[in-house]
Amino acid sequence: MSKVTHWNGFPYYPISQFYKNKFGEKVYKVPISVAQTCPNREGLKGMKVCNFCDVWGSAAFPEFRDLEIKNQIIVTKDRMGKRFNANKFLVYFQAYTNTFSKTSQLKKQFDIASEFDDVLGFVVGTRPDCLSQAVFELWNEYLDKGYFLSVELGVQSFDEKQLLWMDRGHTAELSVKAVERIRKNSPKVDLGIHLMFGLPGETDEDIIMAAKKCSELPIDNVKIHNLHVLKNTTLEEDFNAGEFKPISREEYTRHAGLFLQHLRPGIAVHRLAAVASRHEELVAPEWAKSKLDNYQYILDYMKDNSLYQGQHFSS
Ligand code: SF4
Repeated sequence: MSKVTHWNGFPYYPISQFYKNKFGEKVYKVPISVAQTCPNREGLKGMKVCNFCDVWGSAAFPEFRDLEIKNQIIVTKDRMGKRFNANKFLVYFQAYTNTFSKTSQLKKQFDIASEFDDVLGFVVGTRPDCLSQAVFELWNEYLDKGYFLSVELGVQSFDEKQLLWMDRGHTAELSVKAVERIRKNSPKVDLGIHLMFGLPGETDEDIIMAAKKCSELPIDNVKIHNLHVLKNTTLEEDFNAGEFKPISREEYTRHAGLFLQHLRPGIAVHRLAAVASRHEELVAPEWAKSKLDNYQYILDYMKDNSLYQGQHFSS
């Protein structure tokens, strides 16, 4: 257990620690919902909606999505400020694809968000196929003004077959190219990717391959999700037809641990499991309802088995 002290006793490098080192205090993400669609939902080039995605497109607080961006920031900041005693924030453009519409639209939203003195920067959720020179220039403009700018790229898998199964509409090869393009065109961006575990037929080798791929790429952080079934998705149809079986908490935990063991130690990790924020829309598995229990379960598993991030990483 002696080595499991790398990150203040955590067996992995939590993003909260990255923020604390960077800003000297705790910083909280304020999720807002401004984008209303994505290439899949528009059926671009014959694309379909991702099989796991419901109509809210990953929005944390969809009930606020009709509010002006300024009001969304005020309401959510207030909520988080009271709950966590939070003083500094990053505005998180979370739902759908935030670089899909005109860049001038995103610029307007950045301009509004930057009017708040306690907003230190932005986090932008997007896809590998929605990057343009205009978007890079906008990011660079805000980076040059001293704002923190983080990009969260929905990669989901490095396995081409799984991406087809998910109806993602982009390839793993494109994801790698997107990471390289961001690094080249906006080198100061804090760059993260999202991955999903619990895909059909997923093996230990797939998980290790994903960790190795992340470790090779010039990224700063990663967010891992457990694939869960939401109402009104194609995944729900597969689940009801007995064609998809959600991963158990035990197996997911084992895979999360394996992934972290092979992950480069300098990559910060956003969270260890996803939670279905709207419980009434969760179909399965039941364990995806609980946030803290799952987090603690994974932490305990790692500590009990003396696992830690980067244990099997070699450059
Ligand atoms: S997961 Fe993202 S890209 Fe896929 S349909 Fe939902 S909002 Fe669109």
